[in-house]
Amino acid sequence: MKRVAIIGAGISGISAAYHIQEQHKEKYKCIVFEKDSTYGGLCGGFYVDSSRGKFWFDNCVHLSFTSNEYVKQVFESNSKPFIHIPNMNNYYKGLWIKHPAQNNLYPLDVQTKVNILKDMINNHNKKDDLHTFQDWLKAQYGDCFTATFPSKYTRKYWTLEANELTCDWVSSGAGNRLYTPNLDEILYGAMSDITPNTYYAKEQRYPQKGGYRSFFSKLANSVDIKYNHNLTNIDAKNKILYFDNHMQYHYDILISSLPLNLMPSLLNAPRDILDSASKLEATSVAIISLGFNKDNIAKKLWFYVYDEDILFARVYSPSKKSIYNAPNGCSSLQAEVYFSRFKPLDSMIDKNELLNHTIDSFVRMGICAYDDIIASDVRIIKYGNVIFNKDIHKNKNEILNYLKLLEIHSIGRFGKWEYLWSDESFLSGKEVALKI
Ligand SMILES: Cc1cc2nc3c(=O)[nH]c(=O)nc-3n(C[C@H](O)[C@H](O)[C@H](O)COP(=O)(O)OP(=O)(O)OC[C@H]3O[C@@H](n4cnc5c(N)ncnc54)[C@H](O)[C@@H]3O)c2cc1C
Repeated sequence: MKRVAIIGAGISGISAAYHIQEQHKEKYKCIVFEKDSTYGGLCGGFYVDSSRGKFWFDNCVHLSFTSNEYVKQVFESNSKPFIHIPNMNNYYKGLWIKHPAQNNLYPLDVQTKVNILKDMINNHNKKDDLHTFQDWLKAQYGDCFTATFPSKYTRKYWTLEANELTCDWVSSGAGNRLYTPNLDEILYGAMSDITPNTYYAKEQRYPQKGGYRSFFSKLANSVDIKYNHNLTNIDAKNKILYFDNHMQYHYDILISSLPLNLMPSLLNAPRDILDSASKLEATSVAIISLGFNKDNIAKKLWFYVYDEDILFARVYSPSKKSIYNAPNGCSSLQAEVYFSRFKPLDSMIDKNELLNHTIDSFVRMGICAYDDIIASDVRIIKYGNVIFNKDIHKNKNEILNYLKLLEIHSIGRFGKWEYLWSDESFLSGKEVALKI
């Protein structure tokens, strides 16, 4: 039997092990090595204690938007879901604006609406030969709306200016996530708050019990996972893995879901490959999780925040995703603050201040009172989103080609260095099973 080593017990690593076992039971023996003491990666989560009981928070992932029937069926056979109809908000200068803002401008003051509408109607920005994300935004929405909403959000979410990012994110299929309304929709939405739901996903799913990772809990239980194995070195010539607990493992086939930019140093790669790795950039995310002693704190499943004096870009409600994520009669919210070497967290604020800032902002925004809060947690997720900077494809392909030469398969959101959602990460694990 050939020995398959899979690095990372996130959704992609578990999917790879599961599908290889399913398809080639006689031929391969799979072991998943995970640095943490539990499975799930970004789809994992944690409990926070309170006087009223335990709150569950996911590490990052929110809901499944997948339209892939196979993934839906696997997720559902692992855990029965709640189905949500998308219904979210935007917060801007004290106003709550239906999402997406471009066709729901109604709550804005008349002068701002006139400025945005005039500019949208007379939008002469070029529509093709677009180079930067800013070109794309201006082509869709005009200069005024772009400056008022998405440019601000880009700085908060991507940590760079829109003109420093390429169009790759939107042209890679994610473009449909940013709605482009027609003139009628824009005008109706500016004059009335009765507008249709134009969100690109018609429904979202979330496991009733056990947090997001229970969508693949049976799969995780069916594969061999060695926890507390932090990979520190790879001898690709002799096919040996070295872990920080002094364990070694001889493999025949290596599959990695580790961030692509970390692989060259683990492999002692040549200088040009290390150089390419140093040019791949990603954001990190601080997640600030709060539990409340009332069940009606969260009004919506999630909302976006455009004000730049408020550090968090998005807020989700775990207890709205599933009532079982909070003790009886309680509710919860999780805020996300993005940072990177372009916009470091340290220079902005430390963990404690981040918590206080989030609580103060929630109170100021009218979301809760100080004494509603009975649980809190702040943690940092090192890899949040791949940044679509200049030459991203050139640099990532150089590393991927190098790994190919060493017969190492790279999977998952950071292994492929793409903006993959959980279903796509899951499918990248399935694909590798077909490849080997
Ligand atoms: C803020 C945010 C929100 C998101 N929201 C959604 C959403 O609503 N819906 C959706 O479908 N997707 C969402 N996603 C995307 C989704 O979370 C990812 O696509 C998916 O979780 C990636 O899985 P993965 O297995 O590729 O990587 P990971 O989950 O990162 O797994 C990699 C694993 O490798 C382990 N590891 C790392 N280094 C080592 C080492 N040296 N040795 C051993 N193990 C190691 C890690 O501990 C981890 O368990 C979101 C992502 C983010 C960041």
